[in-house]
Amino acid sequence: GREWHLTARPKGWPAPEDFALREAPVRAPGPGRILVRNLYLSVDPYMRGRMNDVKSYVPPYRLDEPMEGGAVGVVLASEAEGYAPGDHVLHGLGWREYATLDARHAAKVSAEAAPPTTYLGVLGMPGLTAYAGLLEVASFKEGDAVFVSGAAGAVGGLVGQIARLKGASRVVGSAGSAEKVRLLTGEYGFDAAFDYHDGPVARQLKEAAPEGIDVYFDNVGGEHLEAAIGSLKVHGRVAVCGMISQYNATEPSAAPRNLALVVGKRLRIQGMLVKDHSDLRPRFTEEVSGWLRSGELKYHETVVEGIGNAVDAFLGMLRGRNTGKMIVSLDG
Ligand code: NDP
Repeated sequence: GREWHLTARPKGWPAPEDFALREAPVRAPGPGRILVRNLYLSVDPYMRGRMNDVKSYVPPYRLDEPMEGGAVGVVLASEAEGYAPGDHVLHGLGWREYATLDARHAAKVSAEAAPPTTYLGVLGMPGLTAYAGLLEVASFKEGDAVFVSGAAGAVGGLVGQIARLKGASRVVGSAGSAEKVRLLTGEYGFDAAFDYHDGPVARQLKEAAPEGIDVYFDNVGGEHLEAAIGSLKVHGRVAVCGMISQYNATEPSAAPRNLALVVGKRLRIQGMLVKDHSDLRPRFTEEVSGWLRSGELKYHETVVEGIGNAVDAFLGMLRGRNTGKMIVSLDG
């Protein structure tokens, strides 16, 4: 089977030359283990951080070894109790066609209950991030006016819609194209949205939320965070989920320049990691599945075909080529 290796640590924007698709033997499972053929691979922003050789909340990818990441696959052979050929599983050995792993590191998922790709997106890690980030980290309450950046992405699209479903007084989103802005105010039901390329974020946010915001869900950082600090009301809250505008930067960002406003406005700015919120998973799954069944919650996925295109899919996601979750399909 083929697998993607990181061959050089990118400085700034990763280049295709930093990766290699290599052939590796398919290993039969030993006791307690399963052999999985991957059907869908996840490419996520946090993977950019793992390409750097720095200590962080996840260890860096090792050079000339297969990269890891979320994947959904089908069991081909099993030496583990409770796992049989044909079962679908979610696990962490993505970026490859075949994975042999300890069954304790795989979660069975139902391909009948929901499309398998959704376990990497709306019903998976990004979905829980949106749910926990808004409801727990940002302490969202009914009547709050909410602003979310990266709003047409996997996490952001859900944040805005969950806020709407939970009774936000106003939901505003920003994204990188006119088409994405139309999706937000159309299908997703945001009250207002803007393309951050169209002018200063601070000005566009003031126009979209003239009375200010109570919650900012940050996926982007930099100028977006500065604009949000300017628009937040007294006792406003910020959930810092990510700062994707900085992941490929070679210089630290100058913004936010208005951090001193945090004092007078008594703002709370809190970072988050989805792994701290697994206790919310049952509630999240029940509530989000219900909204999906009733049609109140919409989601998009951008699917790129073929293991050979996985790096392009990753780089494309960093450049905004995706609407909703970016997925690599090996199912063709
Ligand atoms: P997305 O599906 O949102 O894909 C990334 C998007 O980022 C792109 O589509 C692009 O959309 C946008 N983007 C890229 N560069 C910039 C930029 N310079 N300024 C503004 N937008 C940019 O990814 P996810 O939903 O998976 O992740 C969203 C955020 O959440 C990321 O910051 C990620 O790191 C974070 N995250 C954090 C977790 C945690 O536990 N803390 C867990 C999961 C995700 P556009 O066309 O709009 O520019």
